[in-house]
Amino acid sequence: MIGQQPEAAPEPLPGRVAVLVVGAGFAGLATAIKLAGSGEQDFLVIERRAEVGGTWRDNTYPGAACDVPSQLYSFSFALNPDWPRSFSAQPEIQDYLRKVARDSGLLHRFRFGVEFEGASWDSDAELWRVETSAGPVTAQLLVSAAGALSEPKVPELAGLASFDGAVFHSAEWDHGQDLTGKRVAVIGTGASAIQIVPAIADRVARLQVYQRTAPWVLPRHDRAYRPLEKLAMHRIPGYQRLVRNVIYLAREATVPMFIAAPWIGSLVSRSATANINRAISDPVLRAKVQPHFALGCKRVLISNDWYPALTRDNVELITEPISHLTPNAIVTADATSRDVDVLIVATGFQATEQPIADLIKGRDGRTLGQAWSERGVQGYKGATVHGFPNLFFVIGPNTGLGHSSMVYMIESQVAYLVDAWRQMRRHGLATVEPTAAAEDAWNADLQRRMRRTVWSTGGCRSWYLDAHGRNVALWPRTTYLFRRLTASFDPGAYHLGARPGTAPPERPRPGASP
Ligand code: NAP
Repeated sequence: MIGQQPEAAPEPLPGRVAVLVVGAGFAGLATAIKLAGSGEQDFLVIERRAEVGGTWRDNTYPGAACDVPSQLYSFSFALNPDWPRSFSAQPEIQDYLRKVARDSGLLHRFRFGVEFEGASWDSDAELWRVETSAGPVTAQLLVSAAGALSEPKVPELAGLASFDGAVFHSAEWDHGQDLTGKRVAVIGTGASAIQIVPAIADRVARLQVYQRTAPWVLPRHDRAYRPLEKLAMHRIPGYQRLVRNVIYLAREATVPMFIAAPWIGSLVSRSATANINRAISDPVLRAKVQPHFALGCKRVLISNDWYPALTRDNVELITEPISHLTPNAIVTADATSRDVDVLIVATGFQATEQPIADLIKGRDGRTLGQAWSERGVQGYKGATVHGFPNLFFVIGPNTGLGHSSMVYMIESQVAYLVDAWRQMRRHGLATVEPTAAAEDAWNADLQRRMRRTVWSTGGCRSWYLDAHGRNVALWPRTTYLFRRLTASFDPGAYHLGARPGTAPPERPRPGASP
């Protein structure tokens, strides 16, 4: 099923388009659908892989599933009454995305197997010159919907190159490897690893799990929908939206735990500790899995089978740091050597320094990566960046969540960029670029708010933080507020460039601060 070709016409790239979208995951798909809905027909979505899906197409590891309920982890404009369970597994989400793409009737605007190789802003022509694996294309508006969790991060382990066994990252699962009866090692105990380990534990001979930091893991309240509920989703008008709204509000109600009242987290952590004690009786193992930071500082994980899997006779949780690899073993700092046939690297993604940033050159010829390494990863409303006219991000800086659905944030960001494009056309604007003042004010406010959050005070080091310890990944307020702040494009926060022969546009109102 994975790798199945969508119904894309194999047309060559046109030389120019009004809007070019990079990536065909949730973000790229929403952008295409909403652009078309606004009346724009001159756009193209390029995608390096063979079909839609993004992270849900790539992460095919055993046990892959979503930790946000499907009723909320889906588009508001494409509710799915057929979700089989409250939390869906990867194949169902991927099928959902395929169906949404098919039903949109827009697949002829997608080019699969086309890699984004770079883009430079041409100040004279006021457009982006984009290089792709299928040739060059120019675009007035460039939308990066490439995703924050798309580039696997592999640690630099001494001796890794000399290891003779199979090695692969959780996001690049090698389905050709039969793990049955093998000695398997998993590095990492994050969101991916805690799903992989229980899913493979019963078929491998030995499973070594290398843990650097014990995560907080809450019970997963997952269940199959009853036939009557499914019928109600199909037949009772408004019922499914009501269920979705209740889930949404319940998730929003947890925001204070992260941003203002960590004591709520300490109450919740009691339930997590009870989760440990229910599954594990061995005091040594209990102590190993007990987290030593405030709940919420890293992503809160949910699982009913992670702790039971660790108690299996063929599973060993190793907390001693990895020293190096030999051709057939992993050696830990205490000089213990454990033989390994297959090494699974579940060490996450290059989340804060998005690699696409190194491929985009702005107004002054510097890459976004260079700009961000100097002033820190930041944007205006997580969407636009000073020095990079007509570039919009979907899931840009500080738009991630620890508590709710990224699909909601994606829809907010798409509404913002579609409104920007609508206003550009209406007012004859050739360029929009956030002012340095608007961007700086937005980020100063964000970072001031960050100081009190559990992500800053919780005593952990997470991938939310960049090399300078700034949280550049998460949104520190409610998603409802984000939606209000991005409901319409705010030209007052932008340098606006008129098309030649067009009267300079008015600057209607100053940019809103967060
Ligand atoms: P992750 O959360 O970043 O976890 C990476 C794991 O690898 C951590 O346990 C980390 O330890 C460990 N690690 C990293 N480098 C290491 C090294 N050099 N040596 C030893 N251990 C090392 O990555 P992930 O599990 O792939 O998840 C990434 C994100 O994807 C999640 O936060 C979530 O947003 C998303 N995700 C979501 C779902 C879902 O259900 N919706 C499922 C999977 C993933 P430390 O904690 O010590 O850094």
